[in-house]
Amino acid sequence: MTQAETFNAGLLAFLAQSPTPFHATTGLAGMLDDAGFEALPETADWALRPGGRYYTVRNGSSIVAFALGADARQRTGIRMLGAHTDSPCLMVRPRPEANRRGYFQLGVEVYGGVLLNPWFDRDLSLAGRVVVRTADGALRARLVDLRRPVAVIPSLAIHLDRDANRQRSINPETDIQPLLGQLAGDARGDLRGLLAAELGIAADQVLDYELCLYDTQAPALLGLQSEFIASARLDNLLSCYVGIRALIEADSEETRLVVCSDHEEVGSGSTSGAQGPFLESVLTRLLPDAADRSRALAASLLLSTDNAHGIHPNFPTRHDAGHGPLLNQGPVLKINHNQRYATNSLTAARVREWARAADIQLQHFVARNDMGCGTTIGPITATRLGVPTLDLGVPTFAMHSIRELAGAADAQALFLLAKQCFRHPGSLAVS
Ligand SMILES: [Zn+2]
Repeated sequence: MTQAETFNAGLLAFLAQSPTPFHATTGLAGMLDDAGFEALPETADWALRPGGRYYTVRNGSSIVAFALGADARQRTGIRMLGAHTDSPCLMVRPRPEANRRGYFQLGVEVYGGVLLNPWFDRDLSLAGRVVVRTADGALRARLVDLRRPVAVIPSLAIHLDRDANRQRSINPETDIQPLLGQLAGDARGDLRGLLAAELGIAADQVLDYELCLYDTQAPALLGLQSEFIASARLDNLLSCYVGIRALIEADSEETRLVVCSDHEEVGSGSTSGAQGPFLESVLTRLLPDAADRSRALAASLLLSTDNAHGIHPNFPTRHDAGHGPLLNQGPVLKINHNQRYATNSLTAARVREWARAADIQLQHFVARNDMGCGTTIGPITATRLGVPTLDLGVPTFAMHSIRELAGAADAQALFLLAKQCFRHPGSLAVS
């Protein structure tokens, strides 16, 4: 296998094992455990040593991992990479069971900006976090992943909606409730019973849950030459995997850090989201002195990594003609002077130099003036911490679909660029 094929095999396995932010965070922590990083519970005292490698998890769904250089005061800044662990999906309501015409249906809530059309006619499963009462009365969070297809949202046949191809719209309350089976008479389905059986406990031990539906079709390489990666949650588990791999494999004497946050798709406002205090609290424990912290952050750089929109050959007018990224042509610098992206000429120039040194091609994305622009954790983190930041990511198609598409060469290119960032000696600030 080539290096890129080996890298992508690891990425595909991670995507398959990460149907929810909880599973993704557990998988990233496992990669760090295997590499010898030390887990630091937030509730513990931290005894950090120069040269030490650590990680900490909040809410089971966000993680900050870091490797310390020799300088305890971080005078040359911290090399940071950020990404997010969540993806748009359908989440199960607290009292979801319904019996409609003998079909067991689950009530779902739309999480984030889901592209709903591709969710129809998929073989869906259920995964998430369940909080249970143990035999001795303690509360424990357990992960579940049913893995097998247990649900489907059938399309309405074209014969019953002759205008479907011209003007079918989707009501997110009434049209997307999935079917889990059939019930006798007026019997009710029992989700808690299903979860309890899966976990090997009694139904009354299931206290609460956060569950989502996901597609059971495995991530795959696709194309005549395997040019593409097709998978759910490429936005943004691809960047999480790239960041943690780069942190583990960076050959560097400098302090470097990766933060993967939950709740980006709904605005990042939570204890574990990028608008919350998680990263700042870790940095405060790294650098308790406020003046040291300010000095270090001014000399630091954050790569905010999140996927970009490749120019679609069937819809070329959705991009500005001069800024249409192509799949497999390298990471994309995302620029928006209205600060939907945090890139500026200082941070972009720094990254251009790293890309040149590592022989990595970069592309550019700007939103058209007559279309809205997405945003990322980049501007949020820059606003919270004052750290110089840049937005970049691999080009993709079908962002927020249940099955997205990326180029098979781009994840490894982003990985090599991140390693270059982590390796760079001296202050990252441009004078
Ligand atoms: Zn994203």
